[in-house]
Amino acid sequence: MRSILSTLIHSASVGASRLARLRFEAQARRAGAVNERLLQRILERHQHTEFGRRHRFSAIRSASDFQRAVPLGTYDAFRADIERVARGERNVLTADPVTAFALTSGTTGTQKLVPFTAFTERRLLQDLLVSRGALFAAIPAAREARPAVALMSALLTGRTEGGFPTASVTTLMMRSLLQRRSGPWTSPPEAFLVPTQADAFYVHLLFALAEPALGSISAPFASGLLDFFQILGARGPALVEDLGRGSLRGDIALPPEVEQPIRARLRPHPERARAVGRELERGMDGIAPRLWPGLSHVSGITGGSFRVYAEKLARYLGGVPIHSPLYVSSEAMIGVNPGEAEPVYALLPSSAFYEFIPADELDAERPSVRRIDELSEGERYELVVTTHGGLYRYRVGDVIEVARHHRRAPVVAFIYRRGSLLNIAGEKTSEHALHHALDQALSKEALGLVDFSTMEDAESAPKRYVIFVELTEDSRPASVERLAARLEEALCEANPYYATLRGRLGPLSLRLVQPGTFRELRALMSRRGASPSQVKVPRVVTEGALAELLMERRDVASAGMERAEAARPAR
Ligand code: AMP
Repeated sequence: MRSILSTLIHSASVGASRLARLRFEAQARRAGAVNERLLQRILERHQHTEFGRRHRFSAIRSASDFQRAVPLGTYDAFRADIERVARGERNVLTADPVTAFALTSGTTGTQKLVPFTAFTERRLLQDLLVSRGALFAAIPAAREARPAVALMSALLTGRTEGGFPTASVTTLMMRSLLQRRSGPWTSPPEAFLVPTQADAFYVHLLFALAEPALGSISAPFASGLLDFFQILGARGPALVEDLGRGSLRGDIALPPEVEQPIRARLRPHPERARAVGRELERGMDGIAPRLWPGLSHVSGITGGSFRVYAEKLARYLGGVPIHSPLYVSSEAMIGVNPGEAEPVYALLPSSAFYEFIPADELDAERPSVRRIDELSEGERYELVVTTHGGLYRYRVGDVIEVARHHRRAPVVAFIYRRGSLLNIAGEKTSEHALHHALDQALSKEALGLVDFSTMEDAESAPKRYVIFVELTEDSRPASVERLAARLEEALCEANPYYATLRGRLGPLSLRLVQPGTFRELRALMSRRGASPSQVKVPRVVTEGALAELLMERRDVASAGMERAEAARPAR
């Protein structure tokens, strides 16, 4: 009976995803008109809010009127109003009742709160269906009704002064899906409430290993997928033992209200445990399809900052494709992967009203803006959104590049976040350029990268970059100085402005950090409020505690270089 019911639910959801995708395809053909119509709806709906009255929304007749009436703004322009909403004031920015606040990951500064309404929630769920529809079209095997692992957290981070729950946008989405019981997940609902990521993933692994017919594994980011396989590698024997006995080891710390229902769902699987044990003994390369032959794909964002993790993940996947499904932020669901193997996203014309600031005008006092139907392929722009959630002409801070068009919707790649630029003398080194340079330098020395971050050292004369690098445990550089010189050279190639400004910048300083440092950094960020499934490693560290941790964890291998730097006379 249960299986007939779940087959029916599954077919309905495949049908709904297909319909959502077809609706999106139709909208993509008229992206400009659909986007402008959305703006009119937003202005109409929120015209009687305080913000709407302040900017005379009721008198606005076109997108050009709107651009004249409302200035472009960053978070600071909305902060005071958002704080009032968080204290419980109504009708300030949005006419819809606010149900929660999405908490940004704070990668490039302090965490921000973004109002979340029932409307935002419906929109997100609809866009998730579009994304699933595109996935099904690209990977037909993903349509099969199979159990799935979702490496998501449903734990709230806290509450605002007015009592509104706060959490990352992925957490809010997961809570909404759990309320609708709309996933074929292997883990019980309480597994999404386990506080620390390592314990949560152990629990997810235990239920996933019991299920040989698993069809997919998804996490918000490729970093989560990598952690999942690394925990499997590190804790294999314990997992096999627990799987065989239907037990949960005592060293997993779970709150009692979560532990009891999880334990109640555990069953002994001695035969499966032996099969899993045999596969683990054969090593971790290509482990995923050996344990789960029906795995159609894994899903997690692979572009931008997450490329470093996606590359490492391939080792475990034995050819199972990685799908990078979404471009999503606390402010809006921005794009869905239209079915490509690369991390590119078709903008959703009915999700937010978009404007785009050309990359060479980012610092201009009055930059020009383009609309969704005015973009050139190959060009870069900063994204500006207007949403039903109460943000108007809001500069997201992300710089994207238009790769191509899907129908008439721009397909974009994420390039960098404005706050994660290294910019001491106007050289504007992006994360993209730095990562590329690191890849070049490390591959010349046959070294493997785990993670990296940077700091601008304004104290030294001249100022310089400090680059913290964690290498794979089997990597030992013959000489840190030589590696630093290679990186310097590669950086000059990756960012010609860095090369021309070398006179005003000192030679970069390379600090290798001990194994496990970046795992600790992420744990520290999640202890301080970032959702464990959403933590992103900041590529430019500006904040005291994170910088201190990186400095403390320097590896002795960098000591020679530090001594040489200290002995060098200041210019
Ligand atoms: P949050 O701080 O949680 O609102 O995170 C949103 C930010 O994550 C976006 O503004 C981007 O900088 C980044 N992000 C989201 N989706 C992607 C993606 N698909 N590729 C690269 N970066 C992304």
